[in-house]
Parts: sequence; C-alpha cells; structure tokens
Amino acid sequence: MLFVLLCGLICFVAAPNIDTIVSLAKRRGFVFPSSEVYGGLGSAWDYGPLGVELCNNVKQSWWRWLVYERDDIDGVDSSIILNRLVWKYSGHEATFNDWLIDCRKCKGRFRADKIVDNKCPSCGANDWTEARPFNTMLQTKLGAVADDDPTALAYLRPETAQGIFINFLNVQTTMRRKLPFGIAQVGKSFRNEVTPGNFILRTREFEQMEMEYFVSPSAEHSKLVDYWVEQYLEWFGSLGISRDNLYLYEVPEKELAHYSKRTVDIMYKYFPEREKPWEELMGIAWRTDFDLSTHSKNKLDEEGKRINPDSTEDLSYFDEPTKQRFYPHVIEPAAGVNRTVLAVLMDAYSETKNDKGETRVILKLSPQLAPIKAAILPLAKNKPEIVGMAKAIKRSLQPLLRAVYDDTGGIGKLYARQDEIGTPFCITVDHQSLEDEAVTVRDRDTWEQERIKVTDLAEHLQKRLKPYPIPPPPEPI
Ligand code: ATP
Repeated sequence: MLFVLLCGLICFVAAPNIDTIVSLAKRRGFVFPSSEVYGGLGSAWDYGPLGVELCNNVKQSWWRWLVYERDDIDGVDSSIILNRLVWKYSGHEATFNDWLIDCRKCKGRFRADKIVDNKCPSCGANDWTEARPFNTMLQTKLGAVADDDPTALAYLRPETAQGIFINFLNVQTTMRRKLPFGIAQVGKSFRNEVTPGNFILRTREFEQMEMEYFVSPSAEHSKLVDYWVEQYLEWFGSLGISRDNLYLYEVPEKELAHYSKRTVDIMYKYFPEREKPWEELMGIAWRTDFDLSTHSKNKLDEEGKRINPDSTEDLSYFDEPTKQRFYPHVIEPAAGVNRTVLAVLMDAYSETKNDKGETRVILKLSPQLAPIKAAILPLAKNKPEIVGMAKAIKRSLQPLLRAVYDDTGGIGKLYARQDEIGTPFCITVDHQSLEDEAVTVRDRDTWEQERIKVTDLAEHLQKRLKPYPIPPPPEPI
C-alpha cells in the first residue's frame, strides 16, 4: 500500500554561507569547536558522533572508488613523522613557505597572497612591512633530548605524498606492478597556517586523500591531468556536489609549485555570498619525475654530481618492453577530506516549509554518505510490544546498514531531527504493525510514505540506498 503525504515541499533554499553550516554542525553533533572548555584553540575542530561517520563515509567512498573499483591502484598508510632528510630532498625545508606581511597600523599578521586590494582585513589600512618567507612545516623533537639539540628536529608531514614516493619501489615490486599504476593514501597532514579560519576549510591539522599515478616519461602528461580532473568531477558528482558549484582553475606558470609543470585546481563555491566565491577543494598536478629522482642515490646533476648523497636507494623503474630504465613521471590528484565534507554539507543543505508554515532543514546527503541510513521510530513508546518490535527491527538491520532507534519525542519532532541530519529513511512502527507485520517507510526528500512488510524491509532499503552510479573509468591514456 502506498501512502503519499502531500506536504509543502515546493521551494528549497540552499546554504547561504558557511556560518549556516557551522551552526547546524554544532547543533546536531557534526563538528564542535576544539578545546572549548578552555576557550577553544583558533582553527581546531573536533568531529562529533555524526561528523566522524560522515568523514569515514567520504574516505570509504574515495578508497572504494580508487583502490577497489579500479585495477591499477594500491593503498598504503605511511608514517606521519618521517626521516628529516625526506623533507630536505623533497624541497620542503627550503621552499614550503608562505609569504608573511604585518600591518604596521594594527600589527595584524597575514599571508601576502590572500590580501585583497592591498587593504588590511582587520583595520583597512594600507601600510605593510616587507613580505618575508615563513616555513609552514610543524616542528617537533624526537627522543629525550636537550632543547637545543638540532639532530632531534623532526616534522609532522605537511602532505601525505612523500610517504608514497619513498615507498614507490616497495609497492611496485611487492605488488608486481607495471606502469601506469597508482598509490593512494589517506591520512592527517599538518601545516602551521599563518591565517587559519573559515571553519574546517583551513586548519593546521587536516586530512588528505592523495594519489600518485606513476606513468612513463613519454606519456601524454597534460592529457592525463585532464583525465583525472574529469574523473574527480564525476566522483564529486557521485557525492551529491553540483557541477554548478565547481570551477576549474588553471594555475598560471608563475604560481606553480617547484615540482609542477601543470596544475589544475578544482575550486568550490564556499562563499556564495561573496564577489569572489571560490576556494580550492583539491588540486591535480603533474609533478614530473622530480620526487622519485630527488630521493634516488643514482640521479646526477648537470655537472655529474649525485643530487642526493644521503639516499641508499635508486627509485628508478625498468621498463621491460622498451628495455629502458627511467624515473616515472607522476600525476597527483590531492584532495582534502575536510574541504570535501564542507562542500558536501553546503550542497546538501536545504530549507523548506512544512504544512504549518514552519521552516525545516533537510540535509539531502547522498545515501552513501549519510551518517545514519535508517531511524526506527515507535509510534507509541509506552506500548512494550511496539517498542520491542522497533528494537528488534533496528537490531536486524544493523549488520547491513547503520540504523538507530529513537523514541525521545513525538513523531513530528523525530522526523524533523532525522531530516536535519540527512537520514534517508525513517521507519515507523505503529499499532497496525503488530497485526500486519509491516512498517511505514518515510523518504527524507519527498516525505512520501510506503507500507513495507518487515520481511522485505532490508532488501527494500538496500536497493534504495545504492550510491549514485559512477561510470566505469575510461581506458588510461
Ligand atoms: P591552499 O592554497 O588553499 O593553501 P594548497 O594549494 O596549499 O591549498 P595542496 O598542497 O594542493 O593545498 O593540498 C591538497 C589539498 O589538501 C587542498 O586542495 C585542500 O583540500 C587540502 N588542504 C591543504 N591545506 C589545508 C588546510 N590548511 N586545511 C584543510 N585542508 C587543507
């Protein structure tokens, strides 16, 4: 039997700005300001019960898509703290800098490249000190050593990529890989950002999903950058992010990182209320053979001297068909978990009015990302048979999908709460359920209700929870 509730789902309003998401995130247990009991720690955020599920679902979707569904990518999980020499030869010790400037009037300190129209964002003055480099790697010390012992200095990684490069041969030989192939890694990175802010957009501790795709030096690298841009646009689409809110930025030559010959940034409209609404969601870079050769003991410079006298390995690759040895080139799609989560939340946010004219928030998350897939709600919490049946349904669904039982309010309130956290289905157990062994399944987006037999429920939900389909990858170039 199909019940259709006619409700006022006419007009949806999208998230007007990041502040709307900050308030929803705190109210509903997605993200809390960190260390709040001590006044907070500028730029640090803690993920609550729903936030941790959402982050995990984003990471799982990414991992499934790249490592399981393709046949040319393996995963690794390398250390956060690496030998300091990794950062010397990768160029980070010398060049991983932001340019700092101080406002002479209010003494505010800012990143030079983020200043708009030369105006101080705090006081509006235009009186700056000279720009100077500031290395943004976060330092630590290893072992019980004296404060001034320089040999104890180590860094928390500012990118996960280097942990992949130094494991290139380990993965290639153990997994018997031939070019082209990729290595994926997801994990924390740290940067001592000069001006963190805008919620989880720019923090000093964040999570990255990086993949290094190794190809021959004679591959069509620029086409491969385009290929990976297209692949990621599809993936973001599968997460429910609208193409209208994404914009491709071809990084000009003078702004390229020292290792890159071409980079395309995928920008998201994080600031719809501003004249310049775009900020980077991820970057796709052709990193050439810079990283593998810089970590290799055999690579010589133009004068015939070893570039890296400290390395004990040669990270070159022997290509059987051509009988040639070379350093593979790399195409790197580097995305942030936190910026993806923010984009997903902004795109999913919508407001509508119910038939009483009250505003309701509906988080239209893609089912694969929703922290909770089904909420089981008893219509009468003082009726032990109904409560028992609802709890039994919750237990039976749990091995298949994340389900919760909730009886802490009237049914209208419970529906509204689940809509606001993006739960695709509410399942109501009522008096009739005791007779006909059926429940009401309510759809988050349409508020339509269907009567489903308990024995068919799991299959019914699983069918409807299928993630948006991603087309199979085209043949690699
Ligand atoms: P930006 O120019 O915004 O500082 P970036 O170009 O330095 O970013 P990359 O080095 O390309 O960033 O890092 C890859 C991805 O890691 C970024 O696109 C972003 O999603 C994420 N990321 C980088 N820095 C931060 C940060 N401080 N907080 C949150 N995510 C970050």
